[in-house]
Amino acid sequence: MKATSKARLAALILSDAQRFASLKQEIVQLDYFCKGTVLKRMMKCGHKQCACHRDPAKRHGPYLECTYKVRNKTVNLKLYPEVAPLYRAAILQYRKLKSLLGRLERLSRTALTHRAKQVQSKRRN
Ligand SMILES: [Zn+2]
Repeated sequence: MKATSKARLAALILSDAQRFASLKQEIVQLDYFCKGTVLKRMMKCGHKQCACHRDPAKRHGPYLECTYKVRNKTVNLKLYPEVAPLYRAAILQYRKLKSLLGRLERLSRTALTHRAKQVQSKRRN
């Protein structure tokens, strides 16, 4: 391996490490996160004589719910309107976490390729 490509590889490895550290920092800064979606739902009440049981347009609501899955079972968490922003924010944090994990993994694969080249070049010398 030529000196120039060795230096280039070393620079790539350094920049991989810097990008990895900065993405890790973004994970550290995450707030509470929660998988799911916040939905508005119209509901039937407990009174069989109520119009909501005959006419879907006369159902009560909208009521807010946070829906997510735990061990393949859907959980519907009823939310007061003033609480919904907390869950919406947590859902955004969760999506950010997933995106960061994806970016960290792709970067790791690139970084591992660079590191592997460096290790192999040392082996040949
Ligand atoms: Zn009703």
